[in-house]
Amino acid sequence: MNGPIQESTLQEMIEGLRRFGADGRGVTRLAYGPAWCEAQRWLDSRARELGLDCTVDPGGNLYAHPPGLEPAAPVILTGSHLDTVEQGGAYDGAYGAVAGILLAAMGLGSGGIPVVAYVSAEEEGSRFASAFLGARSMLGMAEHADLDSTQDSAGVSWRAALEFARERGCASPVHAGPRPFEPLFRPRMELEAHIEQGPVLEAEQKEIGIVTSIIGFRRVEIRITGEARHAGTTPMAMRKDALVAAAECIWSAEVLAIEHGDPAVATVGRAEARPGAFNVVPGECELRLDARHSDSAVLGTMLSELEKRFRAIAERRGAKLDWKPVSSHAPVAMSADMITEATALAGEMVFSFKKMVSGAGHDSMIFAGQGVPSMMVFAPSHRGISHHPDEFTPMTELWEGVRFCHALLARLARRDAMEGAK
Ligand SMILES: [Zn+2]
Repeated sequence: MNGPIQESTLQEMIEGLRRFGADGRGVTRLAYGPAWCEAQRWLDSRARELGLDCTVDPGGNLYAHPPGLEPAAPVILTGSHLDTVEQGGAYDGAYGAVAGILLAAMGLGSGGIPVVAYVSAEEEGSRFASAFLGARSMLGMAEHADLDSTQDSAGVSWRAALEFARERGCASPVHAGPRPFEPLFRPRMELEAHIEQGPVLEAEQKEIGIVTSIIGFRRVEIRITGEARHAGTTPMAMRKDALVAAAECIWSAEVLAIEHGDPAVATVGRAEARPGAFNVVPGECELRLDARHSDSAVLGTMLSELEKRFRAIAERRGAKLDWKPVSSHAPVAMSADMITEATALAGEMVFSFKKMVSGAGHDSMIFAGQGVPSMMVFAPSHRGISHHPDEFTPMTELWEGVRFCHALLARLARRDAMEGAK
């Protein structure tokens, strides 16, 4: 590739990447699969054409870095994930992964801290139910036992999937010692560019989002047990209809989230009634509830209040309610220093911006959770559509995000150097 890195470079790489896993509608690029491997090799060759060297780690993460970089040197890491959901779009993950490579190739001038791009392996959890396998292995957080216990829906272990990727040059051998994964670099800080995946920036006509925290979530499986009876012969006053109780619970969850205000959200994403016939009053209903907030304490309050309201509804209707928490993730704050610098920079560069909470999980929260100062920069998502083939952001807006990230990294590196010299 010749000439300076510019908007057309970004466009060419994002468009190039969307071919890998193109399924006729959207992009399906499941971690460590054939399309994912081809995409990773293609990015590797693109990065080399931009003058970078590339290294893969045992978790299948790709790093694009300046040639001759000392192993374990302190670096700035920037990137995102290569995997997609099934029938996903061309920008989720791909944007930050390509932006990272461009930022590493642009560099920060001589003598500055090196910028290393990462392209993480499995973020979505769409192949393996366990999300963030890539970032976790990048930070040395995964164990030998995880390699066999983590399996996809076809029963293929993470170990076997990594072996498949390794045969294609997309992963290095897992370490035999007590720790299968060791960090390749020492990140002084981490920055992830990403599309917003929500409608807020576009609606408010902001050019970029400065992410202040990543929302925490709690997930609960709920079973409501009433009484299945004949739909013709059971009078309305004598029913214990589990689905109607569930409907009231679903509505109360919406009310509760609205009462709490932004960024509180609560969703029942699944309701399954049994026996599920025209002529039978539903005797049982299972719900899947997901509630999110950026403040741990508020999230805790939301959950206990939801449980109280659900139980009261079931009791009033003579139904039994089982409440089974299944997973959770605490909210993660982004680096206050990085947010301060980003805010000042956006003012100087005359970017319209919004400080916002990310409602979706991202690799950055794994870095932040390990004490690496981390931040995310969002580009607007057209109509907020994401995890869908229609995902779209105009290239000019994506390029503005890259320009902002480049200036931000330069500013943070200058500050880092000054603090190191003190
Ligand atoms: Zn993503």
